[in-house]
Amino acid sequence: MSTDTVYSELLTHLNRIHRIDSVASLLGWDEQVNLPADSADLRAEQNAVMAELAHEAAGNPRVGELLKELAKATVELSADQQVVVREARKDYDRATKLPAEFVREKATQASVGYHAWAKARAAADFAGYAPVLAKNITMAKQEATYLGWGDRPYDYMIDLHDPGMSAAVIDKLFSELKVGLVPLVQQITSSCVKPRNDVLVGFSVEGQLKFLREVTEKLGFNYRRGRIDVSLHPFCSGNGADIRMTTRFKEDEPLSSLFGSIHETGHGLYEQGLPQAHHATALGRAAGMGVHESQSRMWENQVGRSRAFWQYFEPRFRETFPAQTSGVSSDELYLAVNKVAPTLIRVEADEITYNLHIILRFEIEQQLFAGTLAVADLPRAWNDAAQAMLGLTPANDREGVLQDVHWSGGAFGYFPSYCLGNMIAAQLWYFALTQRPTLMDEFARGDFTWLLKWLQTNVHAEGKRYDALTLTKRITGEELSPQPLLRYLRERYLPLYCA
Ligand code: ZN
Repeated sequence: MSTDTVYSELLTHLNRIHRIDSVASLLGWDEQVNLPADSADLRAEQNAVMAELAHEAAGNPRVGELLKELAKATVELSADQQVVVREARKDYDRATKLPAEFVREKATQASVGYHAWAKARAAADFAGYAPVLAKNITMAKQEATYLGWGDRPYDYMIDLHDPGMSAAVIDKLFSELKVGLVPLVQQITSSCVKPRNDVLVGFSVEGQLKFLREVTEKLGFNYRRGRIDVSLHPFCSGNGADIRMTTRFKEDEPLSSLFGSIHETGHGLYEQGLPQAHHATALGRAAGMGVHESQSRMWENQVGRSRAFWQYFEPRFRETFPAQTSGVSSDELYLAVNKVAPTLIRVEADEITYNLHIILRFEIEQQLFAGTLAVADLPRAWNDAAQAMLGLTPANDREGVLQDVHWSGGAFGYFPSYCLGNMIAAQLWYFALTQRPTLMDEFARGDFTWLLKWLQTNVHAEGKRYDALTLTKRITGEELSPQPLLRYLRERYLPLYCA
């Protein structure tokens, strides 16, 4: 068989795998948005069948044969084809190198872990959860060994979410960020400027929906290839052909829903910008979680929290909510948009301290995997770190080590992506500004098209061709650094709080 024929047969398989995965993802979306209360059992069975189908398709021995053939013919492949083959090989290995028994045990353990975590969290009792967590770490190390990463299990977990990243690279970036961040937070929290908590109350859900629809459409989200609905936890799923975003509404916290929606829209714009003809292969897939998060964060923070953005949208916001905003000055509104207040809970954190929450988790994960921190000592280590970084000590483990679901399902190495995304966003942002000095004036006129086009050309169009570090360097000419993020945070927040 010619190399072309082998390659096109591989594409047929990758297309099938992609279609199955997308159906499974749609079921997952439906489960969180629409599923009637007593229909969960059927959905669990449907999910199990889809998982089986997906596993069969991804681990089909024929795919292995085709990849073997193509490995012998690398010189005949174009650069793009090599990217597709490289990533298909990685996916195939992940689908086939784990023994069936281990995969079963992992699925069971994820469910056991979730319930143990939920119970421990409700009771604020870490001790009951500790053995489950210890087993999750052991299993993660075992999985790394199966995939050939036995000497670097934590790097394996990081690579799952952010290809090309490693604990050593992240450690260097985060250490430098922390040095700049801790004093900045202290400076802002000791300021006498305090945003009021009660300025924005009584915002109807219909009004909020109408406003966020206007905002997200203006930013460029294509509602003919996507939609937004309500779920308990906001997320964005699907791919550029069909994006499913969700949000949630609180009448007294309209900005929380608005910024959550802008964030998910950033993810959606990335997916919609990936090359449509290649959604089934690495050429049409996101570079990794860090880059994904850079897109959501840039639209949410650099764009959505800017003066220019509010110059355009404030009159529209007031028009939609005349009664609720009548007693609120422009300065009060802008301060509410850029509220900084350290909290113990990551998901409630502001844009600055959020990074400290991530650094804390990264440092702890690193120690857990290195064996320098025992699971039993985790609550103490967590509380010490929270005090040192945020100036707050959890009153109980629910406010501390038990607050996140991630580790209960074995998702280690996932947290760093959020903070890496913030760094990448800031670095891309400042570079974009050098390319388009009038960008802010355009935002103030409600024109966001240049930035989206620039991101589509430079980030989205590349798919998974480059890892996050390479992509950032290619676009900006500089290695990824925490300095642009620190610069951005100082420029945004010091004039508001410490002028
Ligand atoms: Zn996100």
